[in-house]
Amino acid sequence: MTGTVRITDVTKEYGRIKAVRGASFELGQGELVALIGHNGAGKTTLMKLMLGLIRPTGGSIEVLGDNPAAGEFTGRRQLGYLPENVSFDAALTGGETLAFYARLKREPVTKALELLDMVGLGAASRRRIGTYSKGMRQRLGLAQALIGHPKVLLLDEPTTGLDPELRQTFYDLIERLAAQGATVLLSSHALTELEERAGRVIIMNRGVKVADGSIDRLRNIARL
Ligand code: ATP
Repeated sequence: MTGTVRITDVTKEYGRIKAVRGASFELGQGELVALIGHNGAGKTTLMKLMLGLIRPTGGSIEVLGDNPAAGEFTGRRQLGYLPENVSFDAALTGGETLAFYARLKREPVTKALELLDMVGLGAASRRRIGTYSKGMRQRLGLAQALIGHPKVLLLDEPTTGLDPELRQTFYDLIERLAAQGATVLLSSHALTELEERAGRVIIMNRGVKVADGSIDRLRNIARL
């Protein structure tokens, strides 16, 4: 498996707060990994570091063979990001919103609009987002993250607040994307049966990586 993300001994401090402390891991191409941790564990910080939105205090980060914090980082367009509390203009339709993001990312609008079908929002594309349910907004968020067929997808707590059936549907979609070769990192507060479907789990606690491995391996450790 080719490494698409390489985090080496990364630390991120905000003044006296140590959001991430010496974390190291790699994500291979086509891997679906669940990043688990309570509030403040450092999950969002790790994603922002991978996106190059913030710089590490120490350690190194490589995404698609490059340093995301470097000014000339060319891989950013190949990254898709669904932030934790994605918010859209309620007055716009789903279609208008996706067209806006496509232009922003300099991707063909027609291709972006096809993504609405993929996330099951084709029929609702002309409806204003103000009429969308939470699950529909999350799926629109995923469609937004998928514009331009990113090689790496960072999804920050995408299934929080969704009912069990929607969580399953959302997960089915993500699994399909990983099977097609995308590297997917998905964060969550808890390790439920759903996250266990990811196969590999990284557990963070107060900025420290405390476990990383296949679900079977972690179960065996827990039994020791
Ligand atoms: P949550 O589940 O609440 O989203 P998280 O695991 O994503 O939590 P982070 O958002 O990465 O956690 O936060 C890790 C720590 O860093 C927390 O203590 C948080 O308060 C702190 N932190 C994050 N961003 C900043 C910032 N811009 N300035 C100061 N402290 C910050």
